[in-house]
Amino acid sequence: MRHSNISIFVPHVGCPNKCSFCNQHTISGSQKAPSAQEVRSICTQALGEIKNPENAEIAFFGGSFTAIPRGYMLELLGTAHEFIGEGKFHGIRISTRPDCIDIEILEILKKYGVTSIELGAQSMNDEVLRLNDRGHTARDIFNASLLIREYGFELGLQMMIGLYGSTPETENETMQKILEIKPDTVRIYPVVILEHTRLAELLKSGEYKPFDFDYVVEFSAECLMTFEKNNIKVIKCGLHASEFVENDKIGGFYHPAFRELCESIIYRNKISEIIRPDIRQYTLKVNDKCISKALGQKKSNVEFFRKKGTEIKFIPDKDIPAYEVFWR
Ligand code: SF4
Repeated sequence: MRHSNISIFVPHVGCPNKCSFCNQHTISGSQKAPSAQEVRSICTQALGEIKNPENAEIAFFGGSFTAIPRGYMLELLGTAHEFIGEGKFHGIRISTRPDCIDIEILEILKKYGVTSIELGAQSMNDEVLRLNDRGHTARDIFNASLLIREYGFELGLQMMIGLYGSTPETENETMQKILEIKPDTVRIYPVVILEHTRLAELLKSGEYKPFDFDYVVEFSAECLMTFEKNNIKVIKCGLHASEFVENDKIGGFYHPAFRELCESIIYRNKISEIIRPDIRQYTLKVNDKCISKALGQKKSNVEFFRKKGTEIKFIPDKDIPAYEVFWR
C-alpha cells in the first residue's frame, strides 16, 4: 500500500543556525508558522479526503522541528496526536537537525505518536559541514541515528550533493557512511543555490564553483541505485518543484524531473554494459513498471544508442528487478 504524507510546513521557527544553503522561507513558500487550529483543520480535511489514512503520516517539515520553542512544539504535537490511532492516521513524521536529538526529546516524540524522524545530515564530511555552517559534525549524525533507532522510530537521512567545499571524494564518503548507518529512507537533494543565502554570495564572488550538472546527475543516479539496492528507500531525489524555488534559484542543480533524469542515466549505464560493437539490434527486458525510465525522457536513451548505430527496444517483465536490464 502506498504511503502518503499530510505535509505541514513549520518554517525556520526558532532555528538559531544559518546554514549556507538555507532560505527556509523560500523553500516552504510560507513565512507564517501554522497555529494549532490550522493544523487541526488541515488534518480534519485530510482525514475526510484520504482513502487509507492508516498508511499516512502527518508530516511537520520545513525547519528543525525539535528546536522550535518547546511550548509551540507541544501544541503542534498535541493537536496532531488527536488524529492518530484507529481509523485515523498512522503516525507523525518530523524533520530536524542531528544535534537537536536527545533522550528527553525522543521520549516526548514517542509519547505524542511520532513514528518517523528525518535528520538533515547533508554531508558526512566534517570539513564540508564546517564550510557550510551546519554547526554539527558527522559524529552527531551517527549518534542521533543510533538513538533514533534504539527508540524504535523509522529513521530518514537527508543528504545534499554539491555543497561548498565538497569534492567527488567527500560525496562518496557521505554515500558510504549513510550506507553504514543504513537508515530506512533517504532524500537526495542536489544543492539549489537560492537568493539571500551565503551560497549565493559565494557563488557571486566566484569562491564557490559548483560541479558540472552532468556529474551531479551521474552521482545522484549512483546514490539512488546503491541505496535502493541496499534496501534503503529513496523517497526523494531532487528538490520538489515549486514556483518559490524556481523564482529564487540563481544556480545549482535544479530540474523539475530530477529523479527521472537520474533513473534514465541508471538505465543508460546498464544498457551500455550489455551492448557489443558487433550487434546492432537489441530487445532488452526491464521491469514492467520501469519501461518509461529505460526509454529515458522523450526516449532519450533510444536516441542515444541510435546515434551510436544501435537500435534498442524493451519488453516488460515483472520478474526483472528495478534498475536491471536483461538481454536474452
Ligand atoms: S538548521 Fe535547518 S532550518 Fe536551520 S538554517 Fe540550517 S537548514 Fe535552515
